[in-house]
Amino acid sequence: MNLLDQYAESLQQLKSQGNLRRFTSNIQQDKYITIEQQRMLNLSSNDYLGLASNIQLREEFFDVTDHSARVMSAASSRLLTGNFPQYEQLEDTLSKAFLGRSALLFNSGYHMNIGILPALSDSKTLILADKLVHASMIDGIRLSAAKYLRYRHNDLQHLEQLLEKYQQDEAFNKIIVVTESIFSMDGDETDLAELVRIKNKYPNVMLYVDEAHAIGVRGKQGLGCAEQYHVINDIDLLVGTFGKAIASIGGYLICHPIIREYLINSMRPLIFSTAQPPICMAWTNFVLKKVFLLNASREKLHDLSQYLQRSIIAKQYECPSTSHIVPVVIGESQKTVNLAKHIQSEGFYVMPVRPPTVPKQSARLRISLTALIEQSEIDALIALL
Ligand SMILES: *Cc1c(COP(=O)(O)O)cnc(C)c1O
Repeated sequence: MNLLDQYAESLQQLKSQGNLRRFTSNIQQDKYITIEQQRMLNLSSNDYLGLASNIQLREEFFDVTDHSARVMSAASSRLLTGNFPQYEQLEDTLSKAFLGRSALLFNSGYHMNIGILPALSDSKTLILADKLVHASMIDGIRLSAAKYLRYRHNDLQHLEQLLEKYQQDEAFNKIIVVTESIFSMDGDETDLAELVRIKNKYPNVMLYVDEAHAIGVRGKQGLGCAEQYHVINDIDLLVGTFGKAIASIGGYLICHPIIREYLINSMRPLIFSTAQPPICMAWTNFVLKKVFLLNASREKLHDLSQYLQRSIIAKQYECPSTSHIVPVVIGESQKTVNLAKHIQSEGFYVMPVRPPTVPKQSARLRISLTALIEQSEIDALIALL
């Protein structure tokens, strides 16, 4: 058997299990997505505030951005010649918004999550991670020298038991607790106030919270669940991404200035990768300043989310969500796939999520709402369930 045959056989296996993934060509326009000539309401988008599809916003950005500032490549890492003023301007915006704490930027959320944990841990570090954290954090943990354990999803009692047990253990001189605020599959959330209360009991524990799905969406200014629950100053490593509600690309960390300086000297994806094009930084900064003022959109999204959650429960489905990411748990995989196909044929782009991504017999439709959706559209969707 030649080398390619081995890969071809694995692909064939995936295909026969119905698990083969492919890119789908699509065209997007406002809140609609067109796939194979079928135009559907996009209910699978991370553009939670509708800013990525806002052409006027894009035009306004170019109107206020001088040609000389439209730099399309950094051509270097920030530590060499890539530290353009746009980076410092964006870090300054973040730092001011996050109560004067330090801010550090990364090329993507993935870079951020695979880089920070390995840089901050050694073999005397224990990482305790929620069972359902994003793959990028799992990869960061795997790249680190730390030992790690996962606590039951969203079970802070279990976490506290583990902290009690290990904080005295001489094998470790620090523990890092890793979680998301809003989780991407169930749309449920960590009780950040309680998490902070637990963490504050132990002097050798640091908290790492990923707000990828909450930045822009939660808090008066859109700074995330940390703002909503008044714990910005209590989270040692507060991270998030610009690729979702912020309609751009990149990751950020809010932290102590010592941690920032340490990462600049030790974090490999930061040191050994060409920095983002300065124009992307300028765009992120432009969008972020708008986002601070979009409380009306956040409130609309919140109301829509609650309306959808209630409607799903009224239809007797299980719905763990407390956010704008709203799963409808169907159970059996084939039934879920068939239902998704039917809903798509009626003009709503909803995707099925099956095991092994989610536990057995809990296949589901995953709906993600944006502030562009109207209540009448939710009613029409619910009628199809
Ligand atoms: C999307 C996501 C990331 C990755 O961010 P990118 O900027 O897309 O690389 C990281 N963490 C979580 C929780 C995410 O949902």
